[in-house]
Amino acid sequence: MDLNTKLFEGESVVDLDHISLSIGDLKEKPTREEFYTNYPFFKHWKNESNSYALHPGGINIYIHIPFCIQICDYCFYMKELIKSKSHVDNYIETLRLEMKSVSEALGLKKRIVNSIYIGGGTPSVLTEEQFNKLMEALHEFHEIKNVEFTFEAEPGTFNKNKLGWYKDAGVNRISMGVQSFDDNIIKYSSRKHSAMQAIKSVEMIKDLGGFSINVDLLSGLAGESMQTWVDSLQIALNQNVDMLTIYKMKTYANTVFFKKGVRTNEIQLPSDTEELAYMGAALDLISGTDYKPWSSFAFSNNGYMHRYAENTWRGQDLVAYGVSSFGKIGNINYQNLNNMDTYAERVSKSLFPLYRTYTLSHKDLMVKELLLCAARLTSYSKQEFINKFGFDYFNFIPETIEELTLKGYITDNRDELTLTRQGMLFGDFVGKVLASGLKSKMGDDNIGFSY
Ligand code: SF4
Repeated sequence: MDLNTKLFEGESVVDLDHISLSIGDLKEKPTREEFYTNYPFFKHWKNESNSYALHPGGINIYIHIPFCIQICDYCFYMKELIKSKSHVDNYIETLRLEMKSVSEALGLKKRIVNSIYIGGGTPSVLTEEQFNKLMEALHEFHEIKNVEFTFEAEPGTFNKNKLGWYKDAGVNRISMGVQSFDDNIIKYSSRKHSAMQAIKSVEMIKDLGGFSINVDLLSGLAGESMQTWVDSLQIALNQNVDMLTIYKMKTYANTVFFKKGVRTNEIQLPSDTEELAYMGAALDLISGTDYKPWSSFAFSNNGYMHRYAENTWRGQDLVAYGVSSFGKIGNINYQNLNNMDTYAERVSKSLFPLYRTYTLSHKDLMVKELLLCAARLTSYSKQEFINKFGFDYFNFIPETIEELTLKGYITDNRDELTLTRQGMLFGDFVGKVLASGLKSKMGDDNIGFSY
């Protein structure tokens, strides 16, 4: 064939009809007109000119204060006994430096702060000077206006005076780890406060006003019986706080309870069956009150919401400061170094004190959504998933949804998925089943659901 002659005459060198494709929705003749430089194509991009466009949505901030006056026997968090004032002073200065480096590098001053959570450890051990220094740094490197601002406080480590500083600094939510209102159970866990101190602390916070109050309880502590648990729960309900959160006590390998209750059998921990019965009793008791389930383990009085938890479960960015803290920026999960000296040394060199990171794929984000939102928030709308990921997961994993519905874990009204009482008892299990259904449909990976 004389190629030049053919082209000049406007004829194709190949028979395009013969090689046209018909695969699924694609029914096209081949063409060389396309030249792809990106995806999605530029016509879908938004016309924004400032750097804020690179970080849509606000951020949430977590600050870890790892100092405690006691080491509780069940505790698996990064914490240490408070040693000296100067040690804490140095840590606060390190936090300030970390905020400076991270905020400047990521342009955080330009991003809206949606919520702040100062946790620990025991943040309420800070002195006035340390607290004020922390607040100055927080405001110097972030733009903070009218946010939900939570401060964790342990009964016995704060007074009216301290509450005054918190209030003046904009704290509007106090979260108290009470764990039990039974003095013996509290003592068995090596905690220093008493039930009466916890009750007085709630009163003190209410008297000052201006704070929402959350009280944490732990189900499955050493020495617990159904009677002590129900009594403790009733006292907690009588406090009429805004939110009651009930965590299952887990025996992590780095805890005293693991050593004494699992390895050496020196103490008797409630069995899984007993713990399940405690949580069932809690659901029954709470269902007769004004508290409504807000998540599979938190109960809200008068419609009160916990923005920080909801925002971070829903995938908003979480900027985490402090030793061992973990956050998420964009599609990257990260955790800071968990050794205090190495953490401080990296920060002093203006380096991010990262210990480990994980870049979330699109599939990871979907799995995370099902695990942390769909099965934790007591009801989850189908539309929310479609808005985020562009397809309807109800239709994508109908067998999984049907199985969970038939076995009584969820109700599915086609617009939203709602946890039943049984689903509440096994919230994270429901999440795992939903996420597994999605993973197997999309091609499983090697990432399982165990720690
Ligand atoms: S449970 Fe709280 S107070 Fe107890 S050791 Fe852990 S962080 Fe400290």
